[in-house]
Amino acid sequence: MPGGVSSPVRSFKSVGLSPVFIKSGQGAYLTDVDGNNYVDYVMSYGPLIAGHAHPAVRAAVAKQISRGSSFGCCSELEITLATFIAGVMPGVPMVRFVNSGTEAVTSALRLARGATGRPLIVKCAGCYHGHVDALLVQAGSGATTHGQPSSPGIPDAVINNTLLVPFNDAAAAEAVFSQHGGQIAAMIVEPILGNIGVVLPEAGYLARLRELCSRHGAILIFDEVMTGFRVALGGAQQLQQVQPDITCLGKIIGGGLPVGAYGGREELMNQVSPAGPVYQAGTLSGNPLAMIAGLTTLRLLQSAAAGDAANAANSSQDAYVVLEALGSRLQHGLEKSAARAEVPLVVQRCGSMITPFFTGQSGKESIKNYADALACDTQAYARFFKAMLDGGVMLPPSQFEAWFISLAHTEVDIDQTVEAAAKAFEAVKQPAAQG
Ligand SMILES: *Cc1c(COP(=O)(O)O)cnc(C)c1O
Repeated sequence: MPGGVSSPVRSFKSVGLSPVFIKSGQGAYLTDVDGNNYVDYVMSYGPLIAGHAHPAVRAAVAKQISRGSSFGCCSELEITLATFIAGVMPGVPMVRFVNSGTEAVTSALRLARGATGRPLIVKCAGCYHGHVDALLVQAGSGATTHGQPSSPGIPDAVINNTLLVPFNDAAAAEAVFSQHGGQIAAMIVEPILGNIGVVLPEAGYLARLRELCSRHGAILIFDEVMTGFRVALGGAQQLQQVQPDITCLGKIIGGGLPVGAYGGREELMNQVSPAGPVYQAGTLSGNPLAMIAGLTTLRLLQSAAAGDAANAANSSQDAYVVLEALGSRLQHGLEKSAARAEVPLVVQRCGSMITPFFTGQSGKESIKNYADALACDTQAYARFFKAMLDGGVMLPPSQFEAWFISLAHTEVDIDQTVEAAAKAFEAVKQPAAQG
């Protein structure tokens, strides 16, 4: 396996360590093959909002697998999950299930180009939309941590149809649209950017993109693979009150099993095969295991007083209220201990997705875009990561990833994490003799 891994960020290469191999996950915790336990903030990079091996998800998957894992025929669970999503996301009355976020975005771009008959796609620097050829230009996540500005293996002909703008810069988007408007099929954006760490859209930014796309007959795609059901039941589009034409989903809607989806209004989605001419298919798409794992997770999030929520302390409140409280506790704890240790730190957060940016010499007071994120002190993050790992806390091994809190995390977990962080900030200040 290249780099010993199935996905690059898992290699720990950017923090100068060997990867940890995990034996099991339970609730908010991971146990590695050597028997070490960690409070986990990777949470499989987002899907596990209910925690590892949630009893309800486990039971639902076990029950389903005894009835078969894939039929190559329709099953009722697809309808149930599609109906659930449509019920909480008004912009997604129609949906097509696929097997990953990457596949959802690939298909959404094809639909946008098919529906408009135009070639160009606008993307924001730092947004990560999976390893889609056309969008692997200044892409965040592992592509920033391990990649090159754009990956080898992608023909110029593909990249030439991608236009780049900085996130949070409406004037730049305006300029691109006024120059290329008639040729732009779609603008795609993470409405809350999570793949260079968490960066919120500035007030009015998404509304400007909405207006630009409408004015120029282009399709607005929100990539909510990370934010969908993470920041609110209705996703970032509910929080930000801006409706895209196409929404990409993944991660949480599969409850820890491989899944993706893209959806939008009827006349657009009816362009997709077999209703329309835009071809897209999948052997395991909508398989009942992923559907039931996702559906069970979404129901946990929806039921305010779920008796079977992840833990007793969290069982009687709205899931997103619980997640917000835990997120806020972690944010303030980190800010306080960083200040005490005199480590320059900017913590950015939306609910249960959070990133402490080690701003170092840059002196930045907020991170608004890709350039700001790249100016962070990744060596400081690497030292912090290692100290936290030693202190029993599993973080993403890169400055450019969001941390995720789940319903299985407790205030005690958060407080222990903050305690470990207080020590880790001291380690950040002492660059070890690097060998
Ligand atoms: C994770 C992610 C993807 C890719 O999803 P995969 O299932 O890894 O292919 C796409 N877009 C965003 C915003 C993501 O966070």
